[in-house]
Amino acid sequence: MTSSVDGDPVPPTTYDHGGGVRSLRVPIPDNPLGHTLVYVVDTDRGPVLVDTGWDDPASWDALTAGLTACGTSVTELYGVVVTHHHPDHHGLSGAVREASGAWIAMHAADGAIVRRTRSTRPARWYAYMTDKLVAAGAPEEHVAPLRTARRRAFPGLSPALPDREIEPGELLDLPGRRLRAIWTPGHTPGHVCLHLEETHPDRLPGHGRLFSGDHLLPGITPHIGLYEDPDDATVTDPLGDYLASLERVGRLSAAEILPAHQYAFTDAPSRVRELLAHHEDRLAGLRELLAEPLTPWQLAERMEWNRPWEQIPYGSRNIAVSEAEAHLRRLVKLGHAEAVTGSEPVTYVAV
Ligand SMILES: [Zn+2]
Ligand SMILES: [Zn+2]
Repeated sequence: MTSSVDGDPVPPTTYDHGGGVRSLRVPIPDNPLGHTLVYVVDTDRGPVLVDTGWDDPASWDALTAGLTACGTSVTELYGVVVTHHHPDHHGLSGAVREASGAWIAMHAADGAIVRRTRSTRPARWYAYMTDKLVAAGAPEEHVAPLRTARRRAFPGLSPALPDREIEPGELLDLPGRRLRAIWTPGHTPGHVCLHLEETHPDRLPGHGRLFSGDHLLPGITPHIGLYEDPDDATVTDPLGDYLASLERVGRLSAAEILPAHQYAFTDAPSRVRELLAHHEDRLAGLRELLAEPLTPWQLAERMEWNRPWEQIPYGSRNIAVSEAEAHLRRLVKLGHAEAVTGSEPVTYVAV
C-alpha cells in the first residue's frame, strides 16, 4: 500500500523483524489476500529472499522499491528460496534471477509441477480438467465452457525452473545463517517451511523463527485440494499430508511464525491445535452430509463456504470441488466413507 485515504497512516511496505530479517509487502493484483510477505534474510554472501511475489509490473516495482528501502537492491541478491510453486510466491523468481544472477531453490515435488506447467499443452490441461469435473459429477453447464476453451492458450504461464532442489531436513546454502528446510506437503506436494535455527532477536521463548509460507497462517485456512497431475493416477491424500505436516511444524515450537500472508505471530502450537480441530469438525460435518450418497460436486454444493454456493464464481467452484474431493479422500482413508459400487459418476456414502 502506498497511498493514504483521509490522512490515515500508511502501513509500512517494509518491516524490520530484527536479527537480519526484513519483510516486504508485494501486492497481488485483484486478489482479496492483498499481498505476499516477501522476506529478506541477510547472509554473508548477500541477501536471500524467501518467496518473490506475483509476476506483475506493479508487484515488481513494489519488490524493487522495498529492497531499496531495506538498504539493498535486487542486483545484490544471492538466492531465492521458494516455499511453494504458487504464482503469488514464485511469480517474480525468474525476473529476480535475471536481474541478479541469484539461484532459485524449490522442493523437487513443486519443481516437477513447474516443469509440467511449462510443457503441458493447454488443450491437454482443458481435457484433463473436463474429465475430472465430469467424474466429480459436475453438471454439463459447468463443464461446457471448458470444452470450448480448449484451443485458447493460458495467459503467460511460464514459471521459472528452479536451479536447486530443497532437500527436506537439510540446511540451505545461506552462509552465516542456519536455515533448515521442513517439508510440509498438503497445500502443494512440495511445500516447505523454513526454520531459522537462531535465537530470537527479542529472546522470545521457543526455538528460532519459522518462515511458514501458506502452510501456517494466523487467520486463514489454506486451500487443500487434490494435487493436479494429468500424468499420474496415484491416489494421494493431500489433507492427510497437510494434517501430518501441521503436527510436525507444531512440534518445532518456533518462537515466532513469519507467514507469507497477513502478519507475524507467536504461539504456533495453539494455532496448530486450532487448525487441527477445525479440520476434525469439518470432516465430522461432511460425514453427516454423507448419510445419503453424494458425488464430490453434490458434497461441495452442501459444504459450508464463505458465501452461498449460488454466489461462488466459476473458478472458485472448481477449487471448492477439489477441496471436497480432498476431504473425501481423507474420509475414505480413515474408513469413514466409501465409494458406492457401480455408481456413475461415483458417489460416496458414510460408513
Ligand atoms: Zn499457495
Ligand atoms: Zn499464497
